[in-house]
Amino acid sequence: MKEQQARLDICEAGRRLWQRGHVAANDGNISARLDDGNILCTPTGVSKGFMQPQDLCVVDLDGNHRSGPKVSVEVATHLAAYRLRPDVEGVVHAHPPTITAYACSGRSMAGNLLVETVLLGLADLPTLRCAPPGAPELAEDMAPVAEAFNVFLMANHGALTVGADVFSAYHRMEALEHSARIAMLAEQLGPKPMTESEIAALLAFGESLKAKVGY
Ligand SMILES: [Zn+2]
Repeated sequence: MKEQQARLDICEAGRRLWQRGHVAANDGNISARLDDGNILCTPTGVSKGFMQPQDLCVVDLDGNHRSGPKVSVEVATHLAAYRLRPDVEGVVHAHPPTITAYACSGRSMAGNLLVETVLLGLADLPTLRCAPPGAPELAEDMAPVAEAFNVFLMANHGALTVGADVFSAYHRMEALEHSARIAMLAEQLGPKPMTESEIAALLAFGESLKAKVGY
């Protein structure tokens, strides 16, 4: 991505994460792959709701600091995603309460309640083990599933999403939390699951959409 646009996108995505309650205080981190191959990322100890474009830092793919303030240790997991997936140009990590509650319970959200959950494949997500922020074990767990998924749960911690740019990763985080919230509310009310044939029809619709528009 072009650096100036990436700086603006990271700040806007940070504002939305904070405003929607997907992060508290200085939680979370956002990054973008720049045209020169370096990674622009949010610094440590900063609220994502109030960042300015000049507040961000740059590291190389090995995590060596290039410019700006001190980088967050959690960026190590972003760097793993960039190394594993050359197509990824944006990464978002946050602690949205509902999906994080699922990640703290070891449960997946129900895959038979909400159309979007089926179409976006959000019910059957890989979970990275519980480990300290930025620990190499998280990258180890991501490696075998990186090609097949754009959304990863982090046990007892939160979620990480990747995309072709900052906003596609951000939108995946927003959709993930929204689906999780609806799934949890429906469970409380008493769910009325979709039938097998309704789910099969949705999956067929999703495949045809993918073939037509690269959904
Ligand atoms: Zn975190």
